[in-house]
Amino acid sequence: MSRYWSPVVAGLSPYVPGEQPKLANLIKLNTNENPFGPSPKALAAMRAACDDALRLYPDPASDRLRQAIANHYGVTLPQIFVGNGSDEVLAIAFQALLDHDAPLRFPDITYSFYPVYCGLYGVRYQTIPLTADFRIDVADYLPAAGQAYGPILFPNPNAPTGRALPLAEIERIVAANRDAVVVVDEAYVDFGAESAVPLVQRHDNLLVVQTLSKSRSLAGLRLGYAIGSPALIEGLERVKNSFNSYPVDRVAQAGAAAAIEDAEYFDRTRSAVIQTREALVESLGSLGFDVIPSAANFVFARHPASDAATLAAALRERGIIVRHFSHPRIDQYLRISIGTPSECDALVHALRTILV
Ligand SMILES: *Cc1c(COP(=O)(O)O)cnc(C)c1O
Repeated sequence: MSRYWSPVVAGLSPYVPGEQPKLANLIKLNTNENPFGPSPKALAAMRAACDDALRLYPDPASDRLRQAIANHYGVTLPQIFVGNGSDEVLAIAFQALLDHDAPLRFPDITYSFYPVYCGLYGVRYQTIPLTADFRIDVADYLPAAGQAYGPILFPNPNAPTGRALPLAEIERIVAANRDAVVVVDEAYVDFGAESAVPLVQRHDNLLVVQTLSKSRSLAGLRLGYAIGSPALIEGLERVKNSFNSYPVDRVAQAGAAAAIEDAEYFDRTRSAVIQTREALVESLGSLGFDVIPSAANFVFARHPASDAATLAAALRERGIIVRHFSHPRIDQYLRISIGTPSECDALVHALRTILV
């Protein structure tokens, strides 16, 4: 606390990211990074971008990168916004699109950065409880006749549950809320859910946010993007150009474009993550865990006979870190990122020794 702070600062409750340990040799299954590494073509493009041209500012519009994204999804440049990680893209969306008289609605169990942005930007919000089995109930997001309703935000698949909402259900929400923006955070969509990107062609109130951090294994690069109608994208651009005209540097623009264009590597590595996940789900089941069906690169699981915080601590003693949230409703669950097959084997082996 300092008397020099702006008034809003004292009231903030900042997001606490998963630990990035300085110790080597830990098996790190706590922040949903991709174990298979970035595309070699992306790495080569970034090395090539490290030259004398770095003395120049990057293209403020990231046109070459946005064209690669446009080609990949079959949309046009004015439908794409890029930023320094999807956390930044989301932050800009909070300011540009989600601050209205009617409160923003999002699930009670979801990405814990959302309430943090509400605090930073003074956005009023209301959480909508997931069902007992952690599903989004679409009926909770359909406004009653004559009701004033605000914007909606949810990840698909949801985090930290991993549960996906079918595309038809998402379209019901978007279609029923024509006077409000619906933001779908698709950080994990490539691991088994249906993307809502095709819906932006017929719903101008839908914004889809994606990231290269998970399925393209580029968390260290910080690259996220949003796809939506040109009017929504222009709103994001207006905020971005009032804040930082160059959020995506030259190296990131080159590497991200090459990563998006390397479809073969993308398909191969995301299939490997999915396969490894299915094997881990089976092993956890045989150890007695209840595992929520996951369409993400993590699983959310509880053991009926073992306290989750105690399990997480016991794993840590064995050099394996997973994520535990001490929040109501989910404090008996562990969120376990999908590692390499051998990392997952080591996890299962450690659990077997802990659970005897
Ligand atoms: C990881 C994650 C993000 C943020 O991704 P970055 O692009 O690395 O900022 C956004 N939303 C959800 C739900 C995530 O899990």
